[in-house]
Order: sequence, then structure tokens, then C-alpha cells
Amino acid sequence: MALRYGVMKIETLDLRFQGSEHVIAAFLVHGPESPVLIETGPGSTLPTLIAELDRRGIRPADVRDVLVTHIHLDHAGCAGWWAREGARVHVHPIGAPHLIDPSKLLASATRIYGDRMQTLWGEILAAPADRVVVVEDGATIEAGGLKFRVVETPGHAWHHHVFCIDDVAFTGDAAGIQLPQHAWIDLPAPPPEFDREAWRTTLSRLRELDLRTLYRTHFGPGADAAAELDRFEETMEVAVDWIRDMFERGLEREAMIAEFSRRMRERASAAIDDGDARAYELANPRSMSVDGISRYWRKKNAS
Ligand SMILES: [Zn+2]
Repeated sequence: MALRYGVMKIETLDLRFQGSEHVIAAFLVHGPESPVLIETGPGSTLPTLIAELDRRGIRPADVRDVLVTHIHLDHAGCAGWWAREGARVHVHPIGAPHLIDPSKLLASATRIYGDRMQTLWGEILAAPADRVVVVEDGATIEAGGLKFRVVETPGHAWHHHVFCIDDVAFTGDAAGIQLPQHAWIDLPAPPPEFDREAWRTTLSRLRELDLRTLYRTHFGPGADAAAELDRFEETMEVAVDWIRDMFERGLEREAMIAEFSRRMRERASAAIDDGDARAYELANPRSMSVDGISRYWRKKNAS
């Protein structure tokens, strides 16, 4: 579905990650001059993305600007491919070197995903340095005849940006995960950079922007920004406290994952059924958040 906002039209493209709908999106923003792509998805979904563009009469060469909220593989895994096609890839200063030389990114992802790397993420190509545009907090990206405001939004990752036009924002993972037609907003808190305090500050910043519509990479637009940010923050706070409580009770990782999953399902059950809970967990594995929040507490306790 396409939504229009003045001169701009936004389409949510379902990249059908691992054959499932509503897991990873990219956004096609039709500006007055040219289309702008927000998020690339991973290499494994590139054929789907190209097919979606093709259905709209858009060739890869027509896309001159690509904005990525952060460099995790589900958001920017094929940024290098787009850069090689000649697009400018706009990215956070901390993320930029890893697009130009993805070897560290690859190594850390391989530690997590092992022999599932290729199936999950496909090919990860290095971006030519002259195609990578570093953008910082407060900057304006002029692309497609539109102006995107850059807002630094750490919490999920230190190098996370949200891009805003008027009261519309592309939030990456900064406003959590919300599947279409669902009220539940899930917490993506992967290691190694999840940080509660940073995320609180991010949510305050987002509230101050008086946003109306949040386009989440997982998945699509939510049109009640203020309430969604509140619901998301409440869930983050309780989830982080649960893990601390489990630490204090001396639980091992597997037991933590089981208890965390059960508690999240209970909390979500007012809003979604079991089938939906599974769909959320595909987009956001519970083990990841347990590892991310555990690491956050270990670091905090050590300091
Ligand atoms: Zn993500």
C-alpha cells in the first residue's frame, strides 16, 4: 500500500525474508525528482527487492540515494551492492567504515549465525568509499527532491539513525517492532550494543519531534506515534528488569530464554494470539534480546 504525504509517496516493500511476509521491509519514497530507498535488506532478499522495484518500472540505476538506519545485516546487508550500482549510501559515521570494509561485520555475524550466514544474509559486498556518504545527527539529506532530517537514535545500536520528513519518520529498530494491524510492540535488544539509558534518551528525542507516523523496518507504518513510543518504552523497562531479576536468581542462559519468552508472550497476549507471537519471534528471536540485555547488565555491574 502506498501512502501520500504532500509531494511524497511512500511504499512499504515486503522483502519476504526467508519466505515469510512482514519480517523485513524496505521503503520506497517517491520524491518529486527520483525514488529514494530506505533500508536495503540483506543480500538474500535482493532479488525480491529488485523485482518489487521492477514491478513499479524502477531500475536499480534509477535509485541514486539509499538511506540506512544502521548497518545490521537485515537493514543494510546489501548496501555495498547498491553503492557498486552507483547509488549514494547515507550512513552514520560509525557505520560507514564497516560498509567500506565489511570484514569485521562479517566475522561477528559469522560467530552468531555460523553456517547459516549465506542462507540468511546472502552476499555482503564492500561499498566503494566514494559512494558512502557519512551523515551526522542534525544533518539534512537532500535526496529525490526531498529533505530528510537525520536524528541520532542509539539504544539498539550506537550507530543508529532515524530519518524524518515532516511528521513521518523511518525508525529502523529505534521504535521497536510492530507487525501490521497489531498493537503489540516488541523489543529488539541484540548484543553487543543494547543500552537502556541511551534508548530512553532516544525515545525522549523522538517524542519531542511530534511525529505522527513511524515506518518500522519490522514492519511498516504505525500511525499513532506518541502512544506507540509510550507502549514500547514500558515494555523495554519491564523486559530489562526481568533479566536483572533472573541474574539475581542465578538463572543460566537457557532458563533465562525460556522464562523471558514466556513472560513476553504473557505480556503480549492481551494484544496478540500465539500465532502472531511466533511471527514476532521470527522477526526478533528472544535469545538475541536475552543475550543483549544480559550483556548490558554485565557491563553495568562491572563498571
Ligand atoms: Zn532489525
